[in-house]
Amino acid sequence: MTTAQPLDVQPTPLALLLLGREADPRSERGVECPGDLPSPSDPDLVARARAAKEKLGDKVFVLGHHYQRDEVIQFADVTGDSFKLARDAAARPEAEYIVFCGVHFMAESADILTTDDQKVVLPDLAAGCSMADMATAEQVAECWDVLADAGITDVTVPVSYMNSSADIKAFTGKHGGTICTSSNAKRALDWAFEQGEKVLFLPDQHLGRNTAVREMGMSLEDCVVYNPHKPNGGLTAEQLRAAKMILWRGHCSVHGRFSLESVEDVRARIPGVNVLVHPECKHEVVAAADHVGSTEYIIKTLEAAPAGSKWAIGTELNLVRRVANAHPDKEVVFLDRTVCFCSTMNRIDLPHLVWALESLAEGKLVNRIQVDRETESFAKLALERMLALP
Ligand code: SF4
Repeated sequence: MTTAQPLDVQPTPLALLLLGREADPRSERGVECPGDLPSPSDPDLVARARAAKEKLGDKVFVLGHHYQRDEVIQFADVTGDSFKLARDAAARPEAEYIVFCGVHFMAESADILTTDDQKVVLPDLAAGCSMADMATAEQVAECWDVLADAGITDVTVPVSYMNSSADIKAFTGKHGGTICTSSNAKRALDWAFEQGEKVLFLPDQHLGRNTAVREMGMSLEDCVVYNPHKPNGGLTAEQLRAAKMILWRGHCSVHGRFSLESVEDVRARIPGVNVLVHPECKHEVVAAADHVGSTEYIIKTLEAAPAGSKWAIGTELNLVRRVANAHPDKEVVFLDRTVCFCSTMNRIDLPHLVWALESLAEGKLVNRIQVDRETESFAKLALERMLALP
């Protein structure tokens, strides 16, 4: 469980919350930003952000996830994926404030991996992740009971994607499991199958299925999908006992939009194009692509590609645009014809960043993300198992 300070509000289980209004600290969505934000049309926003950052000096370290807007990324001291950023923050113990331009679960991970003296700030508390929200602590505890009734908890190892709440990471640590990223999912699964016979993969069914089938030689029949909204996950005890991979029914709303038609369409439009997608995409999209890999893999592949080569990229649009701008000698297009930003990542805009930095510069700690000690200790255990993966 995370506390997002300074808000002190009760959970609202029946809430239908507008983004950016009211508060539900049990969710990655629907929380309020308590500050007086500068107007987005203020022409001095860039100068204000720069001045506040300079005033803070080494006391602040700004992290920018690859999917952030350009207006925000220009102020990042480092950019990267969520795990790299959390490690970068841990490597800067002299920074009292870590301003995380990303989403809620990333700020939690940074809080878990940094010292108690470091304070992690999320400029807009409404910047959540819909995938992380698809697996709550209560739902996962209920799932574990279902697995216990089927008599398989002793042989099941939880593996949770980095894109999950601190609660889910703590559950994973408590039950002997590990965290994985999109770069090391195969290594995490290899390790898990040395510890047990089955894996409960949380919360992204696509990363779990793609890794098991593409990289580990399992069949689609080895995988079942546990639906937390159905009694017993919608599965019989026999199905659970027969499965090797029990995939949580979660997905990324950005990567889930790419379809087989997007791949066929771009191949028809651009002869000779290389299709490069993230493993959070659906299995049929990954199966039809030429290259599959994490955000860092996508960036490196484009760097190494010869001039004149053609690429259609299936990941978040802010990143694709930046990669395309960095390689004018290559033809880089977005895989889908429709615009595909991560809407919650985009909640961190310049007005929120200016407000957070100016507040810190005035000595006011705002939007702190803090994971409680018990959750932190189990979540850390799961993260450390990942760090120890061969
Ligand atoms: S891109 Fe997908 S997984 Fe990443 S923060 Fe947005 S919704 Fe979550």
